[in-house]
Amino acid sequence: MKLSTIHSTLSELGTQPTRSLGQNFLHDQNLAEWMVAQLSIQPGESWVELGPGLGALTEYAHRKSTNGLLIEKDGRLAGFLSQKYPQLEVVHGDACEFDVRKLFAGGPVKVFGNLPYYVSSQILFQFTNEPSPVCALSFTLQKELAQRLSAEPRTKEYGALTLILGRRWRVKYLRTLPPSVFTPAPKVDSAVVLLTPRERGELPECDGGRFVTMVKQGFSQRRKQLRKMLVSHELDWPAVCAQLGVEETVRAEELSLAQWIELTNLASRHAGGPEFAIGHKQAQDVHGEIFDVVDEADQVVGQASRHEVHTRKLHHRAVHLFVFDKHGQLFLQKRSRWKDKHPGLWDSSAAGHVDSGETYDQTAARELAEELGVSADVEPLGSLPASDATGWEFIRIYKAQHSGPFRLPPAEIESGTFFALDQIDRWSGARPGDFAPGFLECWRVFRGARNE
Ligand code: SAM
Repeated sequence: MKLSTIHSTLSELGTQPTRSLGQNFLHDQNLAEWMVAQLSIQPGESWVELGPGLGALTEYAHRKSTNGLLIEKDGRLAGFLSQKYPQLEVVHGDACEFDVRKLFAGGPVKVFGNLPYYVSSQILFQFTNEPSPVCALSFTLQKELAQRLSAEPRTKEYGALTLILGRRWRVKYLRTLPPSVFTPAPKVDSAVVLLTPRERGELPECDGGRFVTMVKQGFSQRRKQLRKMLVSHELDWPAVCAQLGVEETVRAEELSLAQWIELTNLASRHAGGPEFAIGHKQAQDVHGEIFDVVDEADQVVGQASRHEVHTRKLHHRAVHLFVFDKHGQLFLQKRSRWKDKHPGLWDSSAAGHVDSGETYDQTAARELAEELGVSADVEPLGSLPASDATGWEFIRIYKAQHSGPFRLPPAEIESGTFFALDQIDRWSGARPGDFAPGFLECWRVFRGARNE
């Protein structure tokens, strides 16, 4: 947007740049076009712009795809944008309060914005926290924050933020912007960064919660030796350092991301936690189980291995659990990409086969403990006959109430979160391919029963 257009539009709207809203408008059109181009938005693709202001970037994104959503806190600017871009959805609201889970229904989404600096970090985490529907994200940030995100070990910018975000996202520092490209000019330089999700397998897995705790502890006094900062983990420090190939006097800022992950895994092992070095083969081999084979009336007629049951399409038994929090939201899990069946799809809170000799009720309690790491009373919710759609499983559906937190086994479950029921309705209606077929069948039973 040209400088003169910015000034005339603001005066037509009877407003002036508001400092408390971080309003610094971009007036370099080449730069605006270049920023949007970094996301390679394709026709029809979903995108979201945060803090669009007068639409400096919007103009270029809108040319690529009209499937866009704008979130602007300033009511006068939001009203202006609604009129100028009737095809786009405009939300007059605070991007920090936006429920990112709504975006799953629109498929992988590209997110961008010249962010107001006072909320940049908050917004960054909000849109990148797992599970995230975002497939690429480009933000203009205060230069200092952008440097921290993309920092290398042994620099003063490298810290907890670099590592916590960097474990899940590849961060690219694209370019520095001088204050003069904005009106009014901010006091500091800005920089554009591009974030894309890391591929599964690009880095070893680890317990995400433990990683965050250890990194924060390690950097809480960054000049101190790491051994002192991590003393509560009671690690065999000389052995840990030998394994990592570092001096025993090492400081937090000297470990690379890969070394921090390895350190987390060493601490998990020491604490008797689950193994995280799961690869494709290992995940498949976990299932050496024997199931009861049943007839069309769900009566046991024999036993067979998991492999045989699936390849010969024998009738067998399974349970699905719907775990609700105290607000009535349902926890969905995203299946691990290493699973042999329906990898990477969204599924019931927990689900699993009934083992030979086990009852449905016993399986429900076991799966809740094994998949979510919790125990709770389970109650029957419905059932489904065996069919092609259920993978020849007779399914009993159970419900339980628990608000978490859950301990998800990474070999089985990539991530998960609670969703409002109408969000799941919209999402499963718009993108059924995002869900495991067994879940969709159970969801129909559950919604059907509620609507009767
Ligand atoms: N994108 C425009 C541009 O490049 O010219 C404006 C960028 S300006 C740095 C930040 C914009 O974010 C302003 O329009 C401001 O009103 C808006 N904003 C500030 N706080 C916000 C919030 N919490 N949620 C959504 N928008 C916000």
